[in-house]
This record gives sequence, structure tokens and C-alpha cells, in this order.
Amino acid sequence: MRRDVVVVGGGIAGLVAARGLAATGRDVLLLEGSPQVGGKLRSAEVAGLTVDVGAEAMLARRPEGLALAEEVGAEVVHPTPATSAVWSRGALRALPRSLMGVPLDLDQLAGSGVLSPGGLARARAETGTAVDDDVSVGDLVAGRLGDELVERLVEPLLGGVYAGHARRISAAAAVPQLLAMARRGSLLEQVADLPTSTAPVFAALPGGMGRLPGLVVDGGGFEVRTSATVRALRPVTSGRSGSGWALTVGPTTGAETVEAAAVVLATPAAATARLLGDVLPDAAAELGAVEAASVAVVTLAFRAQDVPDALFDRSGFLVPPVERRTIKASTFSFAKWAWVRDLDPDVVVLRTSLGRHGEEATLQAGDEGLVRVSLADLAAMAGITARPVDTHVQRWGGALPQYAVGHLDRVARVRASVAAQRGLAVCGASYDGVGIPAVIGSARQAVASVTRAE
Ligand SMILES: Cc1cc2nc3c(=O)[nH]c(=O)nc-3n(C[C@H](O)[C@H](O)[C@H](O)COP(=O)(O)OP(=O)(O)OC[C@H]3O[C@@H](n4cnc5c(N)ncnc54)[C@H](O)[C@@H]3O)c2cc1C
Repeated sequence: MRRDVVVVGGGIAGLVAARGLAATGRDVLLLEGSPQVGGKLRSAEVAGLTVDVGAEAMLARRPEGLALAEEVGAEVVHPTPATSAVWSRGALRALPRSLMGVPLDLDQLAGSGVLSPGGLARARAETGTAVDDDVSVGDLVAGRLGDELVERLVEPLLGGVYAGHARRISAAAAVPQLLAMARRGSLLEQVADLPTSTAPVFAALPGGMGRLPGLVVDGGGFEVRTSATVRALRPVTSGRSGSGWALTVGPTTGAETVEAAAVVLATPAAATARLLGDVLPDAAAELGAVEAASVAVVTLAFRAQDVPDALFDRSGFLVPPVERRTIKASTFSFAKWAWVRDLDPDVVVLRTSLGRHGEEATLQAGDEGLVRVSLADLAAMAGITARPVDTHVQRWGGALPQYAVGHLDRVARVRASVAAQRGLAVCGASYDGVGIPAVIGSARQAVASVTRAE
């Protein structure tokens, strides 16, 4: 049977695109290669408690995530007032308020002790390097405020989002606000003038972001097939039913062809590049050049009495690469989210994350090895020395696209090629931002381009 639309990939981008297209009355089939939808939004059981093992929050200062939650009837919650920290110069230190590492308040930065006196003096003496074209976030900030600020604040903050390196990630794509400020004048003066807001920065679903995919599917009016990997895509110009697309689905030994008037590719860049290889070789080459970082999330459950009291006021901490530890962050889910704490008052759940772009060796250890290094780092940096009552390791291979300098131009070229093909659209984390609201936004854009084209 020929469908109106096939959406390839059942991460949040594909699910939102499928739901949006079904809402216009189209017959929509979503094909997901793995056994379950959700992509990087996933829950698992640890010590009998269901918690997130992928994304665990979404920005609340962009509208798309909150709007989706409302659309699917989900309540949202915000983190507790617990504060985050950064491990720097031998201690856990309060994370100073900043715009991706550019401090809002130099005195607060000084008080935190994150930087050495020399690093602080360099930041205070902001120099005015001119910025024209796109540049890496690291080079932009280091040129103005010095290397140490980049190493100890920008790196861990950017690493938390992209698992990448500040000297390689595009300022225009990742922090356009900072690039615009650098073009106008002093970074320090402009960030200090940013309006302060008491509105929560993050939101999540009680029970976890892993619940969101199921809610988007429920009542979404589209058909889902899992364990249905799409292997090839080709245009068809067959007679009566008009032009469209043919997709080769399933194992090579039992492949099936599905036809559709329109196709939305909501797959990661590498998979999208493979599918576009014959159709749009230039766009495929552009997408094939988008590198991705692999990461792992280790979830650990401890008896509540075994965790130092001081940690109950901390939402977690970041670790700059310059510190040469193995974990790059830990989220104290039990302190950050009331819903996690309420699951079982006697058990606390926290997680560590490991893996940076180009540092795959860290993840070559087996699951037990990742647990072991996590425990060693937690003992050294947070004083947690107890044995966990349960652990869970979730590996995310090639999960976080790296927005290299020039990424926005690359995306514009890809979108222009794709838009020239009738009934074809792309969306997902490889284009306009890796955070959930940005990904939802890209899916909405794909819906608009498919519906506009007809
Ligand atoms: C560990 C981790 C933590 C994160 N934490 C946060 C967070 O707290 N907040 C936040 O905003 N963002 C977070 N992110 C980022 C965010 O979760 C992702 O960028 C976003 O969920 C990606 O959605 P997507 O739909 O674009 O891609 P994906 O979730 O990757 O979905 C793509 C889907 O396509 C499927 N697929 C691939 N190839 C094919 C094929 N050929 N045929 C059929 N199906 C295919 C895959 O199986 C997958 O299900 C995190 C990411 C990771 C990895």
C-alpha cells in the first residue's frame, strides 16, 4: 500500500514529525530501526526504580518542549533549588552563573575559586579580539578572556551538551548570542547586562523524559513499525499514483518495499547520508562529514544513608577535561528531581556520563569497567565511597552530532538540496541544535515543508 508519508526514525524528531503530519489528515507510517521508539529518550530500571538513562531534561526557556508536553497532556516539573558544581583545582566549587562559561559576575567567579588568580586576572582584563565569520566557541572566548576560562568553564559546559571540544564547536551554531555580542563589543559587559530571570531554566516530565515518546505516539494517529530499518531510498515516478518515494525496509534477506508520496528522514546524520547517497550525493557528502561523539551514561543506586548529607543540596557537578579524570559529569538525580527522590526514600539514584568526541578509548572498557571508574571518580570528587546496590550502563554510540565551525552553512546547503526534491524533508539533532526543544523545532519545520510542497 502506498502511504501519504513515511517518517524514518522514531526518536523525538520523527515522532513529532509523524504526529504533526497525521494531524493534517495524512496517512503516516513511522519506521524505526530499533525495537523501541524514543531514540535518546529512554528509561530503564535501576534498583527496581524507573529512571532516565538518556536525556533527562529539556530547556524551559524555549517554547517547543513545553508546548509538546502540553499537547500530549503531560505535566512538567522543574529541578529543585539544588545547585550544580564544577570540579576544579582540587575541589568541588559552586558553578558560577555564566553564558556558556562567560561569567555574569566576575566577583562571583572569583569567590568560586574555579580559576587560579592568574586565570582570573586574565579574564578580568578582557581583550578585544575582532570576530567576523564563524569561529569555535573556545577560540572566541579564549581570545577575549583567556585559555583558563575556556579550559575550566567553557569546556565542561559545552562538553555537557555536545560531548565535544570547545575549540572545535561552532559559536554560530552553539552559542549565537555570544558571537553576536563579540561582534558588538565587550563580552563581560554585555553578559553582565543580560536580564535576570527567575523562571526555571529546565523542565522534565515526572517519571522521566523517557515517558515522552509513548505519549507522543498515543493518540497521535500514525502507525509505528519498530525493528524496521530503512536501507535505501529512491524516487519513483510511477504512472497513476504520481511521483513519490520507494523505501527498502528490513533485513537484506527479507527486504520489503514501501512507497510513499513524501518521506521525512528523522535519522542521525550518518544514517541520513547513507539514505541520500544515490538521491542527493552532495547533501549526503555534507551530512557524512558531520562527526558524532559516543557517550555512556552509568546509573548508580546507593542506600540513602551511604551518601554524604552535603550532596543532597547539589544537583551534580561537571568535570573539565583539563582535570584528567574519567567521568565528565555526574548528575545527582535524587537531589535534582523531587520525583526521583520520591521513588524510594531509602535509595538514591545518580548518574555519571563518560565519553568525549575523539576519546573513544574511555568507552572501550566493559560495563563493569565503566562502573569502576565512575565509582573511583565519585569517591575522589564527591566522597561517595559506598558500594552501589545496583548499576546500569547505557551506551550511546555516535549519539551527539558535532557542530563544527561552518555548521550553519552546511545545514543551509543540505536543506536547499533537500527542498528541491518534492516530498522530501529532513529533521533531527544534526541540524538546528541537539537539545530536545531545538530537535522538536526541526521536526515542526519538516512538517511545514512537506505540507507546503503539496
Ligand atoms: C546521553 C544523552 C543525554 C542527553 N541529555 C539531554 C538532555 O538532558 N536534554 C536535552 O535537551 N537533550 C539531551 N540530549 C540530546 C537529545 O536527547 C537528542 O539530541 C535528541 O533526543 C535526538 O533526537 P532525534 O530524534 O534527532 O534522534 P535520535 O533520538 O537519535 O533518534 C533517531 C532514531 O532513528 C533511528 N534510525 C536510525 N537509522 C535508521 C534507519 N536507517 N531506519 C530506521 N530508523 C533508523 C534510531 O534507531 C533512532 O531511534 C542527550 C543526548 C544523549 C545521547
